[in-house]
Amino acid sequence: MKSLIAMILITMPLISNSVPLLEVNTEIKLSEAEIEALSFMREEEKLARDVYISLYDVWQIAVFQNISKAEQQHMDQIKFLMDSYGLSDPVQEPVGVFTNSDIQNLYDTLVTRGKTSQIEALHVGALVEEVDIKDLQQALAETNNPALEIVYTNLMNGSYNHLKAFVRNIESLGDTYKAQHLLEYEVDYILNYSVTNNSKFKASLNNGDILSQNDEATIAVTFQTETSHVGQTAELFIIVAWTSIDSKQSLMLMRDEAGNWKNWDGSFNNISAAQAPLELSKAQTLDVYKGNLPAGRYQLSVGYRLSDGRIILNGQIVDFSVE
Ligand code: ZN
Ligand code: ZN
Repeated sequence: MKSLIAMILITMPLISNSVPLLEVNTEIKLSEAEIEALSFMREEEKLARDVYISLYDVWQIAVFQNISKAEQQHMDQIKFLMDSYGLSDPVQEPVGVFTNSDIQNLYDTLVTRGKTSQIEALHVGALVEEVDIKDLQQALAETNNPALEIVYTNLMNGSYNHLKAFVRNIESLGDTYKAQHLLEYEVDYILNYSVTNNSKFKASLNNGDILSQNDEATIAVTFQTETSHVGQTAELFIIVAWTSIDSKQSLMLMRDEAGNWKNWDGSFNNISAAQAPLELSKAQTLDVYKGNLPAGRYQLSVGYRLSDGRIILNGQIVDFSVE
């Protein structure tokens, strides 16, 4: 009877040609946080679908119809994971109805805003994608389950493309786009520098997420290199967005090779390397800072520039405070 207890593998073809087959090994148990994230992301993908369906009804702009179909596929991919694990589905059939009350409130607010004008509707579309990207970053940071990572990364790549599409539409109407939920340089990266990939790329803080001004902080980050870049030569960079506790002051800083922090204007063309070029390994650890830190909120990103000029930014901001 040995075959009965063999590893259970469930497979499903995905629509995307870059991810032809998804294998879910349900022997790898899910944590409470992973289960919660799946349930939340399932409804958040429905939020995107339903906002676009509702705004298409109002404005008949093609981008809403096209992207709502993609969101249905995103919902299906998460449903497949939830079914594989026998999790109960929070989704209710009707358009605009949600189990999670935060998502319900967000839906109501966004549709009301999107009905005021075409351009507002497109800004709402872009905001939904920014929110989705941020929450997918969070979900990716909290899992090491390969099937979940594949699906979340696939959805993230979808959101990158959707954000680009909404911004193209906004610009074609003569308006400019400013970040609404992510940091400005993250949106700049997505719109102008990003290349889709299928591996995870994330950073994590090696300390807790609340530090004290009186303590000497040691901050290091580790991240996993995009698989096809392992072995290539790259310049690593570190970016910090600092905001004072009263939110009145903010600074954008980058670190140079000597370990000094300099102002950064937010342009990737003007970013300097944090250390001499190195050969990328599978996992990279970077010493960021050692010493006392002024109070405030810190949002830290790391990334690298390959020798062909391509820039890769980690898919997750490390967010911490000093009190
Ligand atoms: Zn989506
Ligand atoms: Zn989307």
